[in-house]
Amino acid sequence: MPTYEYICTKCGHEMEAFQSMKDEPLKVCPTCRKRALKRKVGGGAGLIFKGTGFYITDYKKKSGSADSPSPAKSTETKPAAPTAAK
Ligand SMILES: [Zn+2]
Repeated sequence: MPTYEYICTKCGHEMEAFQSMKDEPLKVCPTCRKRALKRKVGGGAGLIFKGTGFYITDYKKKSGSADSPSPAKSTETKPAAPTAAK
């Protein structure tokens, strides 16, 4: 029996319900008695979508500069330089 997570969009109440796939999703919040319950699908899929969008925006910025290989090289030479000076 799958466990469904619900969140109330009115009062923010979160709850879990054991339901079969055939059961209709719950709608009425047990706390505020409003029909504002929303079923969370796959444990917060909406959040994952938001995060992906953020990442894509960040990636575009980085590819615009196109200087990713040179910082990696300078990091490699940095530890060797102080040792050679001393
Ligand atoms: Zn509520």
